[in-house]
Amino acid sequence: MNKNKHIAPPVTLVVFGASGDLARRKLMPALYSLYRQGLLPPDFAVLGFARTKYSDEAFRSLVHDSLKEYSDQEVDESNWADFAVHLFYQPGSYNDRASFDALAAHVDELDAQFATEGNRIFYLSTPPMVFKPITTLLSEAGLARRDSDGSFTRLIIEKPFGRDLQSAQDLNRHLHQHFDEDQIYRIDHYLGKETVQNILVFRFGNGIFEPIWNRNYVDNVQITVAESLGIGTRGGYYDQAGAIRDMVQNHVMQLVALTAMEPPVSYDAKAVRDQKVNVMRSIQPLRKVGYAEGCVVRAQYGRGMVDGQEIPGYLETPGVAPDSTTETFVAWRMQINNWRWNGVPFYVRTGKAMAKKLTEINVIFKRPPLMFFEEVDNKFHIPSNEITLRIQPNEGIHLRFDAKRPGPELDVEPVTMDFLYEEAFHRESAEAYERLLLDALLGDSTLFIRRDEVEVAWDRVTTVLDSWRGQEEEALRTTGKPLRLPTYAPGSWGPPEADALLAAEGRRWRNR
Ligand code: NDP
Repeated sequence: MNKNKHIAPPVTLVVFGASGDLARRKLMPALYSLYRQGLLPPDFAVLGFARTKYSDEAFRSLVHDSLKEYSDQEVDESNWADFAVHLFYQPGSYNDRASFDALAAHVDELDAQFATEGNRIFYLSTPPMVFKPITTLLSEAGLARRDSDGSFTRLIIEKPFGRDLQSAQDLNRHLHQHFDEDQIYRIDHYLGKETVQNILVFRFGNGIFEPIWNRNYVDNVQITVAESLGIGTRGGYYDQAGAIRDMVQNHVMQLVALTAMEPPVSYDAKAVRDQKVNVMRSIQPLRKVGYAEGCVVRAQYGRGMVDGQEIPGYLETPGVAPDSTTETFVAWRMQINNWRWNGVPFYVRTGKAMAKKLTEINVIFKRPPLMFFEEVDNKFHIPSNEITLRIQPNEGIHLRFDAKRPGPELDVEPVTMDFLYEEAFHRESAEAYERLLLDALLGDSTLFIRRDEVEVAWDRVTTVLDSWRGQEEEALRTTGKPLRLPTYAPGSWGPPEADALLAAEGRRWRNR
C-alpha cells in the first residue's frame, strides 16, 4: 500500500437509516470506492441500522445492488467478496432503548472481531426528526463516549440541520449534552466537491487574483445554484422546506463564505472556519420590517415544459398545499458589511425547474475608468471583465476580457480564457461523499460545518423567513386571502421580479 495515501484508522462505522436513499446512492458507493483505493484499513466494519428487517446477507445484497446501480465504477466481484465481509446489519427502532443496548453489544463484538481499537463513527442518515432520539439513546446505551484512551467517537449528521435559528440552536444544545463540538461532523456535501475546495486554492494559492478581489475592483458578485427539474414526487417534503431552507442556508451560504472570506492563517479546520464565520457575520441581517421586500424575491414555478415533458405547476403538485407560500425560487441581494466588500452586492439565486442544472459564481469587475473607444463601446456594448468559477457541470474557471477583432476596423469582442478540470487533469473528480467520509474517518473537520457557522447562517435566513411571515399575515389581514407568490415558467431563469432586482441597480443576471 502507498504510504503517502491518507489511510483511515481502524473503525466501526454505524450507519443509521442504512436502508435509505442516501445510504444506497452515496454512502455505500463512497465506502466501496475508498476500499478499492486502499484508503480503508483492513480493520474496519460497517454496521447498518434501520427499522427494516434485513439479515447481514440481505443487507450485503442490498449494498451490492446499490453499487451496481449507483457506483461510477464497475463492481469487481473478486474484491466485492473481501469488502462484503466487513458489512453487517442490525434492525432496530430509533426510539427504543433495547435496540440501542443490542447495538452497543454488536459494536463491541465488531470491535473485538476487527480490532477497531474502540473507534466508532455514528452516521445519522435518517430524516431529521429522529436525530434527537438517536443521540439520546446512543448516550444512554453508553455509546456517546467523549474521546479518551486514544480511541475516538464521532457523529456525522446530515442536513437539514434545523429549520430556523431556534430549532438549529435547540439541536446544537441537545447534541452538546452528549458530544463535544469536535466530535460532531455536520455535512454540507457541497464542501466535498473539488471545485468548491478549489475556490480557496484559486484565491489564496495565486498571487494575481487576491489583490483585485475587493470593492476597489469588483462591481458585483453573482452566485447561481439552479436545478432544471421540478419537485417531482417530493411535494410533501419540499412544501415544508422551500428554496431558502433547502439551498440558501447551507450550500449558497457556503459559496458566499468561500468567495468572500479573508485568507485564513493556515489551512486547518479552526482557521478556515473562523474566517467563514466572520464573513457570514458581516452579511447584513434583514431585521427591519419590510426590508426583505427590496432585497429578496421569492416565486413558484407554474405549469410548463421540462426536458420536453409537461410538468404541473408547483401548486398543482401532489403533496403541496393549494394555497402554499413555499418558494421554489429565491433571489437575494446580500450586502456584506466589511472593509473588503462594503458596497459590492452579492446577488444569489437558486431555484427548481430552471433553464439548466448549473452552479456557478460570477465575479464581475468594474469597467475601466475611461473608455478610449467610446464609439466602439456604444456600438458593441462591451461587457465587463468577469471571472466565472463553474462548480458544476463542466467544472472549470473562465476569464472574460475584450480583444480586438482582426481587421482594419477597431472592432472589439469579448473572448474567454478557459480552464476545464477534465481537460487539464484527465480524470474525474472524486464524489463529494467519498472525500467527506474519508475526512471524517481521518478526523479532519475542515470541510464540515461548525456550530457557530450553522447558527449564523440560520440567523440571516431566519430574518428573511420572519419578514415573509409578516407579508403573509399582512396579506391575510388586508385581503382575507392567502398571499400568492409570483410565478415563473419552468425552463426559465426565474420570475421577472428577480430581473427587476438587478435592473433597479443597472445590472443584469449572467444567464448562459
Ligand atoms: P430516507 O427518507 O430514504 O430515509 C432514510 C431511512 O430512514 C429510511 O430508509 C428509513 O429506514 C428511515 N426513515 C424514513 N422515514 C422515517 C421516519 N419518519 N421515522 C424514522 N425513520 C425513518 O432519507 P434519505 O436517505 O434520502 O436521507 C437521509 C438524510 O440525508 C436526510 O436527513 C436527508 O435530508 C439527507 N440528505 C439526503 C440526500 C439524498 O440524496 N438522499 C442528499 C442530502 C442530504 P427504516 O424505515 O428502515 O428505518
